[in-house]
Amino acid sequence: MTTRLYLQPGPYQQPKETASQSVKPDGTRELVDRYGRVARDLRVSLTDRCNLRCTYCMPAEGLEWLPTEQSLDDEEINRLIRIAVEKLGIRQIRFTGGEPLLRKNLESIIEATSRLRTDEGESVRTALTTNGLGLDRRIDALKKAGLHRVNISLDTIDAERYVALTRRDRLAGVLSSIEAAVAAGLDPVKINAVVMPGVNEVDIVPLAAFCLERGAQLRFIEQMPLGPRDQWKRTDMVTAAQILERLEERFDLTPAREPRGAAPAALWNATDREDPQITGTLGIIASVTHPFCGDCDRSRLTSDGTIRNCLFARTETPLRDLMRAGASDDELAAAWAGAMWEKKPGHGIDDEGFLQPDRPMSAIGG
Ligand code: SAM
Ligand code: SF4
Repeated sequence: MTTRLYLQPGPYQQPKETASQSVKPDGTRELVDRYGRVARDLRVSLTDRCNLRCTYCMPAEGLEWLPTEQSLDDEEINRLIRIAVEKLGIRQIRFTGGEPLLRKNLESIIEATSRLRTDEGESVRTALTTNGLGLDRRIDALKKAGLHRVNISLDTIDAERYVALTRRDRLAGVLSSIEAAVAAGLDPVKINAVVMPGVNEVDIVPLAAFCLERGAQLRFIEQMPLGPRDQWKRTDMVTAAQILERLEERFDLTPAREPRGAAPAALWNATDREDPQITGTLGIIASVTHPFCGDCDRSRLTSDGTIRNCLFARTETPLRDLMRAGASDDELAAAWAGAMWEKKPGHGIDDEGFLQPDRPMSAIGG
């Protein structure tokens, strides 16, 4: 199998309506949509705020942040997570944002989540997606709270380009956090890198070498139309195929898993030809050129208590006001299940008339 063949096709079906919603005798249900996909993975955005200003995500001046009273408090977040796990079949929770490390009491939210048991009787898998700033100081406490895995975002290891990309001079802090996460044994530590045309294509190979040397799993993400509106053009984005081509200049790559199920990344086993002792795994998340919507198992909760059934959804289901008006757990679960039922078959980036969602990525939770 060639590396390119392995990237194709994204299982982007034209799905038929197959499923039906049902409540089980014990009062639980699954987050199923009308195309039969079942959500098991919940992305919880803990804040829309951030201490970086990545150009593909936010404008330099930041965004209009949510007022505190509109954001869920810890008790509300813990309640919705409990409902997701105990009543709706969620098995994995990823905390994100904005920057989730800015959320006070992150450790106690993770601790409460870790105490929950899934429909299979297992503990919930917990993960964090972070820009890494301050993670080195908190990694032990987070691990103790029950955190299983961490994804750290890093788009370049060049100090000047890091400043240009994030508009902040904080590279050293991120590198230190990557070392700390690897040392803490959060295996695998995943590194997320977005590739922007004319900006950091030159970083593809150095980033890969850096991560392989440290035993971290680097995954390149195709840039999506979710940031400032002038930042993305379908015609000049850097595609998965182009990323692969660059990687093949230095690494021998063989497909690492097939099928990949609901996992967004296609993975390759990589060997550095300059030093064949250096081996590891590299991934590409080809959300635009090889969409994996047909296998998507995600549901999203924003920091103001809204359910989104897709990153690109144009509709949302607010649970916060229902909850504050006294809704029961079962009523909240039913509203959540109803929101997921309406999930579209695909994100539609390539459809004529595609419209970027009104919420930016940082306010949805990536
Ligand atoms: N602040 C944290 C971080 O950067 O990891 C968590 C939130 S951030 C929105 C989550 C992920 O989304 C990051 O890996 C980031 O690189 C990615 N991201 C942000 N904007 C994106 C875009 N327009 N296209 C693709 N990925 C994007
Ligand atoms: Fe902040 Fe993450 Fe967006 Fe960068 S990608 S601005 S770190 S939320």
